[in-house]
Amino acid sequence: MTSHSRDYHARSIDFGSLKKPEPLQFKMTDFRRDLQIRSKREQHARKERLRALSEAKHLSKNAVTIDTSRGRSNIEVLRLCIKDLAFREYPFGRRDNITCDIHWHACNFDENPEVYNGAVNKFPGMGDICSKMSLFRSLDTMRELFPNEYDFYPHTWYLPAQYHEFAADVRKMHEKRVKPKPTFIVKPDTGSQGDGIYLIRDINEYNPNNSKSHVVQEYMSNVYLINNYKFDLRVYVVLKSLEPLQIYICKEGLARFSTVQYETPTKGNIHETFMHLTNYSLNKRSATFNRSEREDDGSKRTLTSVLRRIGINGHDTDKVWKNIEKCVCKTVIAILPELKVEYQATIPPNKPGPRCFQILGFDILLLDNLKPILLEVNSSPSLSIDGEVETSPGVFEYMTCALDEMVKRPLVRDSLLLMSPLNKLKSGFMSKRRKRKRKKGGHSNGSGGPEPLQHQRTHILIIKADESDEEKREVDVTQQMSELNNELDFTRFDKDEDEFLDSHTEDENLNDDEKFMKILEKLSKENCLKQLYPAVYDEAFEHLRILERVANLFISFLGVRGSLRIGPTGFRTFARKCRLSRRGITNAAVDIMYIDMQRRWDHMNPDRTSGLCFQGFLDSCLEIARRKFPGPSKIEMLETLVDFCENSLNHQDDDGKIPNLPKLHFRRLGLAYRPSGFQVYRKSTDCMTEETVQDLYSAESRSTHNSSDEIESFLRQRRKNAYQPTLMRYVSRVSLVQSPE
Ligand code: ADP
Repeated sequence: MTSHSRDYHARSIDFGSLKKPEPLQFKMTDFRRDLQIRSKREQHARKERLRALSEAKHLSKNAVTIDTSRGRSNIEVLRLCIKDLAFREYPFGRRDNITCDIHWHACNFDENPEVYNGAVNKFPGMGDICSKMSLFRSLDTMRELFPNEYDFYPHTWYLPAQYHEFAADVRKMHEKRVKPKPTFIVKPDTGSQGDGIYLIRDINEYNPNNSKSHVVQEYMSNVYLINNYKFDLRVYVVLKSLEPLQIYICKEGLARFSTVQYETPTKGNIHETFMHLTNYSLNKRSATFNRSEREDDGSKRTLTSVLRRIGINGHDTDKVWKNIEKCVCKTVIAILPELKVEYQATIPPNKPGPRCFQILGFDILLLDNLKPILLEVNSSPSLSIDGEVETSPGVFEYMTCALDEMVKRPLVRDSLLLMSPLNKLKSGFMSKRRKRKRKKGGHSNGSGGPEPLQHQRTHILIIKADESDEEKREVDVTQQMSELNNELDFTRFDKDEDEFLDSHTEDENLNDDEKFMKILEKLSKENCLKQLYPAVYDEAFEHLRILERVANLFISFLGVRGSLRIGPTGFRTFARKCRLSRRGITNAAVDIMYIDMQRRWDHMNPDRTSGLCFQGFLDSCLEIARRKFPGPSKIEMLETLVDFCENSLNHQDDDGKIPNLPKLHFRRLGLAYRPSGFQVYRKSTDCMTEETVQDLYSAESRSTHNSSDEIESFLRQRRKNAYQPTLMRYVSRVSLVQSPE
């Protein structure tokens, strides 16, 4: 109400009568009406919310739910997969207190750190860990320890930090007159899609852009060509979990071709982007880009078609693929320690949090001898399935690209299946079976067509409030999804199930559970994902996982929760608790080493946060191992150091002191009833409780042979003891020997 109208009403009040003044009455009515409307709206909203909540509760038992509110460019392929799998989509997230089973983020984990349950398709920190500088640093560390195993990526320098080293190396190569004359490729650390990449042949051609760090790599000029064109492979990998480590590889991928015929780099052609770079995003702008939709033709093809072609040329493609698999596993093992550090900082083990998984895109080049060379790991590979399509000569439209769909749809679908809770998949299967049985028994809706909408409508929660844009959008989506759901009976997943059921319905011996397991088995055989680790390479690469133990040490001394850097106090505590002074490392030496390492690893700290990063800590461990734990190789020195640290930590409590309770008890026991048949080394009793010692004693007294094996196996069986984990660790090292008496 304007002030003018208020004045008018004030003037119209009849002050003679003291009955309810009109303007006031009007105001009250207005206010009451407002109140009434608001409370009705609130009641309605509450009712709707409750209804939605109970519906959602009921639904979550039957269908795998997926929150796609942050799916952005992935949304198209996601919707197709959700349709394939008959999952339930929440395009705006859930508004009740129930978390979706799967949360799909287009970019990184941090997009929604408030997820405490279910699965998220990103690992915390993966983007940074896969940046060029960080990735090749991790690989370099592994190359230092395992030079023969980590030879599948180009020699890399980190600029500006290693400018002088790079200059010296280039000079040496020139002096040696290496043939052909070496070429280098300069890439911005956080760049993508070929942005800012250029080739150089001399150090003077490097353009130091002060605001950016670069990696410079030796340019691999001897590459395998098809029809004289250079290409690289996009291999998709799914990291299902870190603990235990589970790596899957997608059997299909993409090959991206350059659009100008390849020539070895010379001064005259190093600027030809379309000849030396194979990025799709760059080459699609080339006049010679071939948009063929066939999988074995054009500038973008399927990976398997390229492998077939290599096979036709007389090469062993199984061997090529195996080498690619190995390269993938070794790369994941190299970034694993840092991933674990990030993971525990974001989702500490004792706090609720989601399970993470991630689809990664590995870019791999094949040399002329078909050796795979890793170029980079994409933490968010493009999953979009649309692109420019030439509908008529010279006319381009943005449409779904059949090739992309062929590769990415099964990848996303099987990744979703991999992360879906089994019980929900099962209950979904059961309810479909029941429906099918009902239909067969003549209880169908009679029309023979799809079931009425109310039985299979998509449950998107609508909370009616004001007519906001969001509500309108929700309704739209609901309609779309209902239409989509009408098609559900024709999906691949359903068809598979039907086919399978047809061939097994006669088999009365199989119960529902067994039938479901068979279906899963069948689906997993058709799965485009193959488990690499642990299924294939567990034993072969177990020895490479030493750095995870260093990461565990780092994590134990991080101090502040959520921190990714160890401070000077944490570093000192590490040295003290691991009893490094026993190996002659003084407190002063520890402090000097900390400052030195912090300076050395400063270039990996763009935010100028205080503290030492994991790579710096690892470098310190390598330095300590080299100085104080001499051995025939770097890896052996490091292993001895880690063993030493772990042993020291296992024998002390939180204050760094040896716990005296078990020791005292043992002394008492030892004096009173010294076991006659064997003796336990005092050091190894440090972490024993009275109970364990008594067990040990009674085991000995019952046993006639008193062999150390017997006692060890007896101890292993004692699972009740609270000290069991510590005990188990030391039992593997303990020396129980026959006493000479
Ligand atoms: P971006 O993340 O910007 O795509 P990449 O590292 O994938 O950067 O490099 C882009 C392209 O440059 C690759 O697809 C490949 O064709 C070419 N390339 C990159 N590194 C090398 C190298 N060391 N030797 C030969 N070609 C390379």
